[in-house]
Amino acid sequence: MAEPSDFSFTLGTRMDGAHGRTGTIHTPHGDIQTPAYIPVGTKATVKAVLPEVVKDLGAQAVLSNAYHLYLQPGPELLDLHGGLGKFMNWEGPTFTDSGGFQVMSLGSGFKKVIDMTGPEAQGKVGSDDAVAPGKERLANVDDDGVWFTSHINGDRHRFTPEVSMNIQHQLGADVMMAFDELTTLHNSRGYQEESLERTRVWAQRSLDEHARLTEQRSHRPYQALYGVIQGAQYEDLRRKACRDLREMRADFNGTEAGFDGYGLGGAFEKENLGTIVGWCAEELPEDKPRHLLGISEPDDLFAAIEAGADTFDAVSPTRVGRTGAFYTEYGRINLPRAEFAADLSPLQEGCDCYTCANYSKAYVRHLIKADEILAGTLMSIHNLRFTIRLVDTIRQSIIDGDFCEFKEQMLGRYYDKQKRPV
Ligand SMILES: [Zn+2]
Repeated sequence: MAEPSDFSFTLGTRMDGAHGRTGTIHTPHGDIQTPAYIPVGTKATVKAVLPEVVKDLGAQAVLSNAYHLYLQPGPELLDLHGGLGKFMNWEGPTFTDSGGFQVMSLGSGFKKVIDMTGPEAQGKVGSDDAVAPGKERLANVDDDGVWFTSHINGDRHRFTPEVSMNIQHQLGADVMMAFDELTTLHNSRGYQEESLERTRVWAQRSLDEHARLTEQRSHRPYQALYGVIQGAQYEDLRRKACRDLREMRADFNGTEAGFDGYGLGGAFEKENLGTIVGWCAEELPEDKPRHLLGISEPDDLFAAIEAGADTFDAVSPTRVGRTGAFYTEYGRINLPRAEFAADLSPLQEGCDCYTCANYSKAYVRHLIKADEILAGTLMSIHNLRFTIRLVDTIRQSIIDGDFCEFKEQMLGRYYDKQKRPV
């Protein structure tokens, strides 16, 4: 029978003087060596890349979005296939988020709808209901859940913690996230407190519903549930959220169990990402994995890992790839630039990816200019491999005890435009 003990985390090497560590997450679909970068397959596909290739690139798991799969094609269809992994032909571990982020950010926040230009938005705190001129509020949060409008066809839908857990159980990923409320850095302190309390109540409801569904669906492999830590940029709120979620328990067929891991969510300013992850690492149990939800650039990876994050997802390698930007040891470069028109060298000398082994910058640039779909595939392959290899190297540097040297060397090169040979 499926039970919480089917999922676990083994601690490996601890960093000296920091919260960073290596470890192994054990899931019913295989192990994940951490720290690990988890590629995003929003709609059950890592855009433009075959699952076999994603595996060959060294990816250990894939993360999909509950919001998108709920709207299209619907979680029942994934359940019918035996879950996300079987549906998308990915044999390894899978993650889903709770849908909360997309429900609220596609609906009401993050520059799309919330007014980020007004006087309140310039400071740290602002109005909690500043909808930009000409935009319609697409999500409404209340204490029980969220009403939101589909970005596909305008239909109204309702998400609650129970709805999210039912959807995620049907989606069948190895790791799921509790339903939480997303705030922005512009919300007032009062609103952050109110929202955090709502997220706390929703976390307990998510855990209870998860326990019920685990028992009901015991023919399926155990699906782990992570509690999601909010609290924006406030140290006391982040720490309180960690302590609240750490203590939560539910009844799994007569056995008390809590969250299997923790998701670190919400708005982060780049400069205090490491600090916030560090507060959480101090409060959270050492034997549970921590997933940082949604980061972007290489320096964020170093900061997050050093502060104690074990896994993280980021859409940027594939997203910036499709728009023509590629990562190198010497920073991010835009391939459409004229200087690469007749450049016969690979995207990055010495890169072990399929794209760099077989194609020139000039060829891939030609594909971008000609709007050929192979461009997205080749660019995504390189950027995914770059990111996965970087995190693998960071993991090895923790084991070897030279993380700090590697970080200094890598970031020095990455941000020193003078040294760039291309
Ligand atoms: Zn490459």
